[in-house]
Amino acid sequence: MDIYGIIGNPVEHSLSPTLHEAAYDKRELDATYAIFEVNTNRLESAIQGAEALGIQGLNVTIPFKEDVLKYVQADQLAEQIGAVNTIDFATSPPTGYNTDAIGAKHALYYHDVEIPSQQFLVIGAGGAARAICYMLEREDASITIANRTFKRGKRLADELNSRAIKLEDVTEISQNVDILINATSVGMEENKSPVPPEALHSELTVMDIVYRPLKTKLIEDANASGAKTIDGAWMLLYQGAKSFEIWTEYEAPIDVMNAALRNYIEETSTTG
Ligand code: NAP
Repeated sequence: MDIYGIIGNPVEHSLSPTLHEAAYDKRELDATYAIFEVNTNRLESAIQGAEALGIQGLNVTIPFKEDVLKYVQADQLAEQIGAVNTIDFATSPPTGYNTDAIGAKHALYYHDVEIPSQQFLVIGAGGAARAICYMLEREDASITIANRTFKRGKRLADELNSRAIKLEDVTEISQNVDILINATSVGMEENKSPVPPEALHSELTVMDIVYRPLKTKLIEDANASGAKTIDGAWMLLYQGAKSFEIWTEYEAPIDVMNAALRNYIEETSTTG
């Protein structure tokens, strides 16, 4: 049996087992996906142990996405982003990928959102925002970053030759952008939005990467404004699908994975 899994801390509420096991069932693979909560001081041992035990692949989540770069050969995109969320043990040393970036790209394209030359407003400058912004830059988008801590947003904007604005200025700026992405944790298990409803309008596409609940306050406000919306499960789905394809070399059964993911989120969400 092939063994895959996720390392993180805390990680017990991960949705990845649901996502991947639906794909193993559909493709009739003899595989399982486990959750490994790793002591924050034992990352190196965990990676070496996984390799020694013949584990085929691992996803990586908070707080290890950056530190894990020391123990894998990151591909160019993951290296630029400075974070790895997928390790493939088929190579030696293991290869590190960032499928969050690819997940965001596929979520947008699946919804017929053009990326090149479009004006994007990204809220946030943490790990997920970095992955999304580097992907957008590769796709030749125009990027504005608004982060609660302005300095952090400015640092990311400077790396990318894009611009940073203050979170308070989002309403004014958003009138002239095509796509707004929430890449903060605001809205996760809470009825809050990172931007005021006035920032939203019918010419916008709004993508939230928060997936619990599926209908975040931002998504509800955006629907009310007439904007097109893409919820956080889409990015999660496509990052998982890319990991599956890297590890197994089978095409990911997107519809089956999507249904399993959405059912599980609906059943286990406490808000929304
Ligand atoms: P992170 O590195 O900790 O960054 C958190 C970001 O949220 C920072 O920009 C932070 O701003 C901002 N923030 C936090 N609380 C805020 C508040 N009250 N008001 C305004 N901004 C606030 O986390 P991350 O890894 O980027 O993850 C961010 C979220 O995305 C998490 O909820 C995570 O679950 C989700 N996510 C989803 C997917 C997906 O596939 N759908 C993938 C990855 C992550 P400061 O810089 O000012 O602290």
